[in-house]
Amino acid sequence: MRSVFVFAGLSAALVLSHPILAQQTNGRGGRGGGRGTPIQPGESCPAGTTEIRPRSCMAPEFAAPSILDYRPKSTLITPEHMVKTAKYPAIDYHGHPQGLLSSAAGLDSLGRALDGLNVRMMVSADNMSGERLKATLANVRASEKMKDRVRILAGINFQNVGPGWAEKAIAQLEADIAAGAVGVGEIGKGFGISTKKPDGSRLKLDDPELDPIWEACARLKIPVFIHTADPQEFFYQTLDFTNERWLELALFGDRRYPQDRFPSFETLMTERDNLFRKHPKTTFVAAHMGWHANDLGRLAKMMDAMPNLYTEVGAVLYDIGRQPRGAHDFFVKYQDRILFGKDSFQPEEYPYYWRVFETRDDYFDYYRGYHAFWKLYGIDLPDEVLKKIYYKNALKLTPALPQSGWPK
Ligand SMILES: [Zn+2]
Repeated sequence: MRSVFVFAGLSAALVLSHPILAQQTNGRGGRGGGRGTPIQPGESCPAGTTEIRPRSCMAPEFAAPSILDYRPKSTLITPEHMVKTAKYPAIDYHGHPQGLLSSAAGLDSLGRALDGLNVRMMVSADNMSGERLKATLANVRASEKMKDRVRILAGINFQNVGPGWAEKAIAQLEADIAAGAVGVGEIGKGFGISTKKPDGSRLKLDDPELDPIWEACARLKIPVFIHTADPQEFFYQTLDFTNERWLELALFGDRRYPQDRFPSFETLMTERDNLFRKHPKTTFVAAHMGWHANDLGRLAKMMDAMPNLYTEVGAVLYDIGRQPRGAHDFFVKYQDRILFGKDSFQPEEYPYYWRVFETRDDYFDYYRGYHAFWKLYGIDLPDEVLKKIYYKNALKLTPALPQSGWPK
């Protein structure tokens, strides 16, 4: 009750100082339809107000909270199915195990965390190569518990791409695969956004000087796990309040790509698609659903046009879970070419993925408020599709993963 009095006092002060409130009160006034400030058809309400009836805007009587402080609790009561462990053993194809592979104690704690989630295997996508790769593989092989549960992708060094680069890069990749790496990745977003050639120009994703390395990946029969660009909202002319990722962009400066300084989202997508098309014998896994989880029709067109393309679900759960029917149909249709991956290694976040994939729960929270101002829904995938996404597709795509002991 106390807060009501506080607000009542506040509102009197607000009316005096707030031009729109003053106008509302002095206008037709009173209760009912006459309240509010009119706008023209097609116009949006002035800042600080909201449309309460067609073409009529009003400001709240109390000072509105910032988006950080508005935390409404849902009153919806509906069946809840929390899923702590995946229904089938999973392979996390987008692992960033944060140093846990470099010691026996680290591997032990990784194993305990994965056990609690039913993640049987992690594919480390930390771009390891050379001596670091060998040392890490030796560590993994020395762990009785983890030796069949961790595999590692090799990194390609994109510095100094020019004459002679491809021969060196291929020799290193062959050595890394011989040492035990099972594929390439994660090729990071720097490739395309920021990596330069020796002459200072931007290294484009479809640069012909790179062709030999992609052909080598086809010859070695290894998948290429690649993260291109970032969510399209990160690439903007001006950052305003219509941007769905405004809060995230305001929090993290390194996610901003203002268009006077960075290549556009579409430039990067065009170069990426050229790369995939130009090397049909090379298998590419587009991380983060290619940043098209918000436009599954676009991703579907790519999947149809490029049989060498697979995709992975890391860090785009907020888009999958807000379109349960569309996402369900997409996952069923492309069930042979989607891999599970988590990206950022936070064990408490995996169960959100299980819940979205395995249940038909309605309207539940996502794990990061700043990614998504909305709730998620379960997409209720059939068991056979879950198995493919959790482990079968990764095993098929990556023959060097331990192939035995998985459910049929
Ligand atoms: Zn990653």
